[in-house]
Amino acid sequence: METIKKFNEHVMATYGRFDLVLEKGKNQQATDENGKKYIDFGSGIGTNSLGYCNDDWVEAVCNQVKSMQHTSNYYYTKVQSEFAEKLCEATGYDKVFFGNSGAEANECAIKLARKYSFDKYGKGRHNIITLTNSFHGRTLCTLSATGQDSFHNYFFPFVEGFINVETNNIEDLKSKIDSSVCAVMFEFVQGEGGVIPLEKSFVNAIFDICKEKDIITIADEVQTGMGRTGAVLTSKLYDVTPDLTTLAKGLAGGIPIGACLANEKYSNVLTAGTHGSTFGGNPIACAGGNVVLDKIMNAEFISEIGKKSEYIINKLKNISEIEKIDGLGLMLGLQLKTKKSVDVVKEALEKGLLILTAKEKARLLPPLTISYEEIDRAIEILNSILK
Ligand SMILES: *Cc1c(COP(=O)(O)O)cnc(C)c1O
Repeated sequence: METIKKFNEHVMATYGRFDLVLEKGKNQQATDENGKKYIDFGSGIGTNSLGYCNDDWVEAVCNQVKSMQHTSNYYYTKVQSEFAEKLCEATGYDKVFFGNSGAEANECAIKLARKYSFDKYGKGRHNIITLTNSFHGRTLCTLSATGQDSFHNYFFPFVEGFINVETNNIEDLKSKIDSSVCAVMFEFVQGEGGVIPLEKSFVNAIFDICKEKDIITIADEVQTGMGRTGAVLTSKLYDVTPDLTTLAKGLAGGIPIGACLANEKYSNVLTAGTHGSTFGGNPIACAGGNVVLDKIMNAEFISEIGKKSEYIINKLKNISEIEKIDGLGLMLGLQLKTKKSVDVVKEALEKGLLILTAKEKARLLPPLTISYEEIDRAIEILNSILK
């Protein structure tokens, strides 16, 4: 209680927190200040992709801390060069810009898209289409991009130049794309919006129209990227190649990082002085990212994600309180019949299981390393709450 009291006295109350003080973790389990253990099906909102303190990750990160923690981007570091090369090879992109969060990754993509359009077409072609129910971050610009009215309060004036298209509505998309539009930005699976995958036909429509009109496609894979859905990038599952892809959450295994990837056509739009970040590409984050990528690029590791997903879904199907299961891979949203998801989160916590909500749904984002035994125990707990 001491910690919670101190916390609330000195930390701004921007989050509705649960009464739980976490102290440490190992692999897929967290331990609170009283020594109680929790199976983790939230992974710090999809960031701890390899769980807590994975041995290989700890070794790489600690070695980096001991040799050099930061340099600024006025100099080169080997670890950033290696991570950038590995990331581009793994994703098929040409170049990357590193920041420290999802919002920053999206800011970079937005700036890049507008600059490309300005350089080629001049002023006035700056609008970016985003989707209803999307989430792109908490900075003023990415809040403006976010397609949910509930986020557009208090902070006026918001950044201009975002047009919302109704998710999965091809007619609405066609009617709003005009000569003022330079980019379309979307999540393949809307995460914060409630774990809602886009329809394949809608995604195809975005790519067809954008190609025809030299409009940039921006995939916000901050939550869906880096193995979360069972592929390195979710764009592979949809069989499309966005011009820009943004990454963050799971990219460095729990160290702050963000990345904006660009294909060759867009890889030289941002030039010296047009964009930057003091911490971006920090050596410690890159060292963590290298280990995450090494694991994900292992074919067996990545195929296990799909198998675990199927295993979880098949077990959840037997719980009658669950109306519907949405999502891809290890990013799942459970629509409940009668229970409120936040109450389920609280009950699960008492029983030693950490899960999340997404809108009215319960959300599961376990570490990609979750074991079948831990899945069994987690589902037993969920079953005992939902039966
Ligand atoms: C979490 C999230 C963001 C914002 O990331 P931050 O690191 O909190 O800035 C942006 N887009 C999507 C899809 C996200 O899930």
